[in-house]
Amino acid sequence: MSRIGTKCVQAGYEPQNGQPRQIPIIQSTTFKYDSSEEMGRLFDLEASGYFYSRLQNPTCDHVAARICALEGGSAAMLTSSGQSANFFAIFNICQAGDHILCSSALYGGTYNLFNVTMRRMGIDFTFISPDCTDEELYGAFRPNTKAFFGETISNPSLQVLDIERFAKAAHSNGVPLIIDNTFPTPVNCRPIEWGADIVVHSTTKYMDGHSSTVGGAIVDAGKFDWNANAEKFSGLTTPDESYHGLIYTERFGLEGAFITKCTAQLMRDFGCCASAQSAYIVGLGIETLHLRMAQHCKNALAAAQLLSEHEKVAWVNYPELADNKCYDLAQKYLPNGSCGVVSFGLKGGREAAERFMAELKLAIIATHVADAHSCVLHPANATHRQLSENELIKAGVPSDLIRISLGIEDTEDIKEDILCALESV
Ligand SMILES: *Cc1c(COP(=O)(O)O)cnc(C)c1O
Repeated sequence: MSRIGTKCVQAGYEPQNGQPRQIPIIQSTTFKYDSSEEMGRLFDLEASGYFYSRLQNPTCDHVAARICALEGGSAAMLTSSGQSANFFAIFNICQAGDHILCSSALYGGTYNLFNVTMRRMGIDFTFISPDCTDEELYGAFRPNTKAFFGETISNPSLQVLDIERFAKAAHSNGVPLIIDNTFPTPVNCRPIEWGADIVVHSTTKYMDGHSSTVGGAIVDAGKFDWNANAEKFSGLTTPDESYHGLIYTERFGLEGAFITKCTAQLMRDFGCCASAQSAYIVGLGIETLHLRMAQHCKNALAAAQLLSEHEKVAWVNYPELADNKCYDLAQKYLPNGSCGVVSFGLKGGREAAERFMAELKLAIIATHVADAHSCVLHPANATHRQLSENELIKAGVPSDLIRISLGIEDTEDIKEDILCALESV
């Protein structure tokens, strides 16, 4: 079996004799068939093939297959964004009246999606600290709980989730563990190897890596036994009337049921599909993901060390610093590096944060992370603006927090830029 770096370059697309070396961009909404009968079989999910790019497109499928191979899954799909990936991953196995248990350390957009928009759909969410006791954790599951959701490394609070522990808790309650693995990428952590059942990504971040295109992905490990709790996951284990009574787990097995249902129902009905152009860009980005992640992590560790030794800095959060509360978890789950994002606070608080950011020359101010270009953000003023002071603290995002995303520029230039900006604070 090839190693992760080889998979980044080659997985998901194997050109045959005389075929294009690069994944072709199939810029077509629809596909031609010789007979109406043949097309009918596609619509009944009896044959596999392409008929309309809202559901599936060959370019998107090659890139999904690349991500699937990187994560070690059985099936995968692309979505138009990380937000739609998270929405689909949850909504594929729940409905009004159900409950989802989540880590409270989440990306602001995900928190809002769950806590506001999906609540309006009648789905209840409980947010629990990743540092909770076993008693709190096991006590939080309900009979109608359908999944546990968490981020491997939370954005922006950089808490490392004890994946094995939460997988065990989810499985002993008969539900899958869904992990957002956007920050470490499969280069640095493969949650499926630690017991995760579904892995989601915002490919907008490191996978694309050049802030070119918004996108998402869902990967199924293909291991969760939906039939063991068939009544809990009736959408997968009982007939789908919108497909003439087809049963997903019966027809597609544990390996294919989740992604097929997600494509056939949610993508069909909501239409949050990736474009072939976007998928191509993500596929191209992934070819260098292993090289870029190494430089992102090198630059982030250098920045974190520099900041933690500076007199004007109040605190630094980076899981690889020896005094970090997640250090042991990072050593376990992220032995080759975590991510390129560092958060910290200045002794001057909120005001100093704004001044520091204005003084940076190399790192630009942007609502983005995980980009080849270094960038910086004050979340309390941007992505987490909708959260109250209390919610900010609960989400691990105090109002003085500066999030800096280290790019892949030269390490010494980045250090100089940070030092110069600190001088003027
Ligand atoms: C950015 C991000 C998302 C949302 O992804 P979009 O592609 O912006 O929709 C979800 N989860 C995490 C951890 C993220 O960083």
